[in-house]
Amino acid sequence: MFERTVTPADDNGCGWFHLSLGRKVRPAHSGTTSARWVVLGAGFTGVAAARQLALHYPNDQIVLVEAQQVGFGASGRNSGFAIDLPHDIGAPDYIGDLATARMSLKLNLRAQALLKKLIAEHGIDCQLQAAGKYQAAIEPKGIAVLEAYRSGLDKLGQAYQVIDGKDMPEHVGTHFYKRGLYTPGTYLLQPAALVKGLAESLPANVTLFENTRIHSIEQGADKVTLIHDNGRLIADQLLLTNNAFASHFGFLKGRLLPVFTYASMTRPLTEQEQARLGGKSTWGIIPADPFGSTLRRTPDQRLLVRNSFSFNPDGRSHKKYLERAERQQRESFERRFPMLSGTPFDYTWGGSMCLSRNHESFFGTLAPRIHGALCCNGLGITRGTITGTLLADWLAGERDELIDFLLSSKGPNANPPEPFLSLGVNFNLRLGQHRAGQES
Ligand SMILES: Cc1cc2nc3c(=O)[nH]c(=O)nc-3n(C[C@H](O)[C@H](O)[C@H](O)COP(=O)(O)OP(=O)(O)OC[C@H]3O[C@@H](n4cnc5c(N)ncnc54)[C@H](O)[C@@H]3O)c2cc1C
Repeated sequence: MFERTVTPADDNGCGWFHLSLGRKVRPAHSGTTSARWVVLGAGFTGVAAARQLALHYPNDQIVLVEAQQVGFGASGRNSGFAIDLPHDIGAPDYIGDLATARMSLKLNLRAQALLKKLIAEHGIDCQLQAAGKYQAAIEPKGIAVLEAYRSGLDKLGQAYQVIDGKDMPEHVGTHFYKRGLYTPGTYLLQPAALVKGLAESLPANVTLFENTRIHSIEQGADKVTLIHDNGRLIADQLLLTNNAFASHFGFLKGRLLPVFTYASMTRPLTEQEQARLGGKSTWGIIPADPFGSTLRRTPDQRLLVRNSFSFNPDGRSHKKYLERAERQQRESFERRFPMLSGTPFDYTWGGSMCLSRNHESFFGTLAPRIHGALCCNGLGITRGTITGTLLADWLAGERDELIDFLLSSKGPNANPPEPFLSLGVNFNLRLGQHRAGQES
């Protein structure tokens, strides 16, 4: 019996969720249901795993169970960068071991191809754009990061364009940045629209239950039982795709870090405001310093600012962190867009990333009949999509170099025990944000 646990509770402020098309939410589960396969968590990872299992086993029922509504969790809350390139923040050139970087690139490219195919096949309206991304710097430290990353990209044989500070406004309007590094392979998209669309287009042998909070998992001799307040799901095989919440059931305990990050989104800019801003009509910027700000100019002409972090060991949203993040985002917005000063935010929200100290993910079997694709380390659109898909392939008996690569990972390493963990993480988050200076 894995312990009764806390379940997700995200805030209701996510712009992407509210601005994407409404859908008929699937009923919550009640009573007792048996299925050969149960997938727990309907984010990018779980939706991909359920789809792929359904394709491998067209005669089996696959149950996909989600605590909230699809799109309400982190998969619908992120900044919408479906990134191709590896970005190892632990390595001096951000590429690190070349063989590993090449495999990460292959995984991400497979995920992008899969998502593009599904979006086209099912007509998912998620503002998909092959827009690339700018990585931008203000401070000398950030510029040094871009230099290091550039040399890493050379080693990996990947295309990029260095953009001098004076030319940045042509691209992104603001004069704020001193240098940019443009890489063309990233897709920008509306994340809630995508994950909702993927859930709506699941094969007919997937049954999705929403608003069903699994609080305990019981492991029997030949079955796994998932228990919630109104019933139970009995599975031959369970796939855990519930991000940092896996550790609340006792899996990878003390190895995952539920770190929240936050975003605010303005109302649509008027035509005059768009003219004052200048630059291209849509773009995405990620910061040179990992503690800096991510920005988007969306196809519907809203500006998004993502920054600020908090350590939420219970994996749930907390109002005081959300309020602090909104203040920080207002300052970051004013620094970058003085020509749009005071433009109100329509939305502010937070969401959980599942990080590990060694930046490794988990892929494989956690216990008899219980498997997982967990801990995307902040890159879940591509990584979650491909690891969910490959987990299903592996369970169906397939092997290829990508599966072998994922299985060979040593997985997330152990965190120090509490209270040292919270003290250490909070200290490092504060220090990182302070050191990011103008980049934040
Ligand atoms: C603000 C922000 C910006 C980000 N930007 C990017 C970005 O630009 N690009 C990118 O690739 N990634 C980004 N990320 C990270 C990305 O969102 C995650 O890596 C991704 O969501 C992980 O997908 P997942 O399916 O593994 O987990 P999740 O999306 O967390 O899905 C897991 C699901 O499991 C459900 N669940 C958990 N416990 C239970 C339970 N007990 N019972 C039932 N259901 C349960 C949750 O409700 C959740 O919906 C960002 C994250 C945030 C918060």
